[in-house]
Amino acid sequence: MDALCFFAHFLLSAAARTLSLKAIYAAGEDKAYATFRKLRWPETHGEAVCPQCGDVDAYEIPRRRFKCSACGKQFSVTSGTIFASRKMSFVDLLAAICIIVNGAKGISALQVSRDLDCQRKTALVHRT
Ligand SMILES: [Zn+2]
Repeated sequence: MDALCFFAHFLLSAAARTLSLKAIYAAGEDKAYATFRKLRWPETHGEAVCPQCGDVDAYEIPRRRFKCSACGKQFSVTSGTIFASRKMSFVDLLAAICIIVNGAKGISALQVSRDLDCQRKTALVHRT
């Protein structure tokens, strides 16, 4: 999944649409990190998935990074996403997503996928 399609998933996922700014800031950084992991890896409920080989047997290393047991690649929850180079807190990242999601209400999955040049099927995955 490329970075833009990942972003489309974010916009359309049920989890993202339940975010509220107040709740995000009230819950704090650790909770925001946990939520971000669930948004990033919904199929494993937030357990790290290696972006290189797809292995789910990664272990945590310092500074919120992971190392893949299978291929040895080090990665973080933002690796391979549009947020990868950002030095923002997870609270701020979630808040930014929340604002975008709220602004994007009413935009159909088809429209988003067309705009972002994703496959329609991909954009509809988390639409329920
Ligand atoms: Zn790997």
